[in-house]
Amino acid sequence: MAFTLPALKYAKNAFSGFLSENTFNFHHGKHLQTYIDTTNKLVAGSDYEGKSLVDIVMTSSGPLFNNAAQAFNHEFYFNCISPETNVQVPEKLLKLIELNFESFEAFKEKFCASAVGNFGSGWTWLMQTGTNKLKIMNTSNAGNPMVDGFTPLLTVDVWEHAYYLDYQNRRADYVKDFFNHIDWNFVASNLKD
Ligand code: MN
Repeated sequence: MAFTLPALKYAKNAFSGFLSENTFNFHHGKHLQTYIDTTNKLVAGSDYEGKSLVDIVMTSSGPLFNNAAQAFNHEFYFNCISPETNVQVPEKLLKLIELNFESFEAFKEKFCASAVGNFGSGWTWLMQTGTNKLKIMNTSNAGNPMVDGFTPLLTVDVWEHAYYLDYQNRRADYVKDFFNHIDWNFVASNLKD
């Protein structure tokens, strides 16, 4: 069965002062749609037919990996944000962040600095690397921590197409506003024991 565009869990005009409806029209409606359409084209008639998106990301390479991973990464990213600002961080996750980064503020600074400093097009991740172990990692292009055996918890898209319509070249402002819109309940739901 072909992959289809996942629905957003909020209205496209719900983020006043952050991402505009126009950004969602392009980023979700065009960029993500194209990654999904291309994945479907490349999968059709291949050994990957019938496999899950995660399976494809874990086992493919080249153009299929690029498109399938971008499809996965974007759905994940759109789930990482909430129209609500400063969502309360669930206690278990907050404790883990404090354990691994000394304080929530120190984590925020490090995550945002990594995203601002991620050269070119890519993604900045908070991932789980073991029991009670969290790490920040930058990937380029379609990269995803799953292929290195890690569990993605949170990601920010720092490809220019994610923010250019609203922020032009001001990536630092986009990252700061992204951080205030994180859906910490989604992030916590990705934790593994
Ligand atoms: Mn994107």
